[in-house]
Amino acid sequence: MIRGRFAPTPSGDCHIGNARTALLSWLQIRQAGGEFVLRIEDIDQSRCKPSYAEQMIDDLLWLGIDWDEGPGTGGPYAPYEQSKRTIKYQAAFDQLNNNGWLYPCFCRRKDLKALANAPHGLSSEGPAYPGFCRYLTSNERKTKAKEKDPSYRFAMPDKPVAFVDGIMGEQHYAARAGGDFVVRRADGFIGYQLAVVVDDADMHMTDILRGADLLDSTPRQILLYQALEWPVPRFTHVPLLYGPDGRRLSKRHGTAVTLHNIRQAGVKPESVVGILAFISGLIDRPEPVKAKELILEFDLSKIPQSPVVLSHKMLQNLSNS
Ligand code: GLU
Repeated sequence: MIRGRFAPTPSGDCHIGNARTALLSWLQIRQAGGEFVLRIEDIDQSRCKPSYAEQMIDDLLWLGIDWDEGPGTGGPYAPYEQSKRTIKYQAAFDQLNNNGWLYPCFCRRKDLKALANAPHGLSSEGPAYPGFCRYLTSNERKTKAKEKDPSYRFAMPDKPVAFVDGIMGEQHYAARAGGDFVVRRADGFIGYQLAVVVDDADMHMTDILRGADLLDSTPRQILLYQALEWPVPRFTHVPLLYGPDGRRLSKRHGTAVTLHNIRQAGVKPESVVGILAFISGLIDRPEPVKAKELILEFDLSKIPQSPVVLSHKMLQNLSNS
């Protein structure tokens, strides 16, 4: 069975970029006759609010996107909110730790900041962690543990990672690109990379479609799947949205970037879906269309690889009914 998901972090209003990712992952799964899941990624409770999650759910339904399993709907892999799944993360953490994939790291943020001039590991990030704590002796660990609670890092194996992305094509990453990453923070919180792998594996996801800002997370997630001996899903990353000035789409481009404002302006869901489908190469003109009318049109090969620019005209159409 083909299974996919939309996994938003409820830390703000649903952005037009989130709406596009949701639409495309929903179309991919609905076209394949698969099962679609909504998962709320609220693991970082300091950034997330239940009211944003409620609004997100309402916005998705308004757009015409539905799901077979999710918060409220329930399903065989409930709960579908990360904040309620801590036991599963801890079990995967223990499995990795018992098999020697993790090590405690006592470095402080300020020490790592001093590395700012070191060569970057991955294009989307700062300097790679150079592995200071990876080879500490057990005595050194004991001494350091008296001063500070450690975070835990994944010890990346010395092998390159490659995968074929559904839109971006072949991707190659050098061995240890990005450096050993944190899977559990010093305050005990499980990091995004491990939580998302645990959830996607536990929920039997076969196809992950998400924004290209997460492309560089994929090699790490593949290594986690392999270390946990779980099957690796297919990955597809959709290009990011930019404003008419060529900058990443954000509040600076006016009010028409959140569904909340778009809806308040009285714009119809079909108009939003039409613009999203047009910029994704699924239809020839940005004309109103219902989400379900696109199921047959959906084709990954039509989606451009390059970043997508929203024109002034499109932004205007999203701010007036
Ligand atoms: N929760 C992540 C976000 O909203 C997406 C995670 C994923 O799709 O893997 O950016």
